[in-house]
Amino acid sequence: MLAERLPSILPPLTDEHAMEATAIASVSSAAQAQLTGLQRTPPFEAPHHSASAAAIIGGGTGMLTPGAVTRAHRGVLFLDEAPEFQRHVLDSLRQPIETGRIALQRSAGQVIFPAQFQLVLAANPCPCGMNSGRGLQCTCTVAQRRGYLRRISGPMLDRIDLQVRVERPRSSALALAEPGETSAQVLARVRQARARQRERLAPYGLQLNSQVSLKLLSDELRLPRPVTAQLDAALDRALISLRGYVRILRLAWTLADTQSRDEPAAEDIDAAMQLRLSAGDVR
Ligand SMILES: [Zn+2]
Repeated sequence: MLAERLPSILPPLTDEHAMEATAIASVSSAAQAQLTGLQRTPPFEAPHHSASAAAIIGGGTGMLTPGAVTRAHRGVLFLDEAPEFQRHVLDSLRQPIETGRIALQRSAGQVIFPAQFQLVLAANPCPCGMNSGRGLQCTCTVAQRRGYLRRISGPMLDRIDLQVRVERPRSSALALAEPGETSAQVLARVRQARARQRERLAPYGLQLNSQVSLKLLSDELRLPRPVTAQLDAALDRALISLRGYVRILRLAWTLADTQSRDEPAAEDIDAAMQLRLSAGDVR
């Protein structure tokens, strides 16, 4: 439910990005039919776990068709029941996650499509899906439970910034729950956070925290040593990878941006580390 609502808190596409999204939609038959004018809404792609590698990353015989990763360009790629996807399909996402592009090999040469998306994976805690809370209804063996989430490889998990464990809600909690924020309220905060990023990163030709390099993070955007002490120690003790280090810093900047603060404090770094590792038992 959360993943499907993500597009409602994403700002509309800029002119440039709307042109890209529209161009991609115009060559993918499914979206072609509905195409009227520029596509301003960030795309949301949710391929089924039985989808082929060609359907996800692009390909096909004869004319090359963009896959879900390209149709999700500038938007969201949502893989529900992620462990059910074929391992090689999941691992093929590593390249676009790192580079924002997908290279497809053809006999005539290489074709490169854009593929810069926010990736959202959802997974049950076990194959039967009942192992939350006290897990009394779960019928899986210990080996099945352990193996299930490991189908998402370590290198793949290393590229995931936020891991959140969501317990099955109880009816009593639902009855007491305060009404949450509306999407419009959250969108306003996202826009504000994005505006702060754009302003800060404009001198470097960037727009989003997710684009910031390690060089920039350790140079112009370097934080005071006490702020990053815990993170530095985690890197030195090999508790996190260098990729993880960079991603935690980027996330900490975003946390500060969402709260209209000029730069991350130690608690933002701490929160970013916890968000990245909170489902750590997955590994
Ligand atoms: Zn189970």
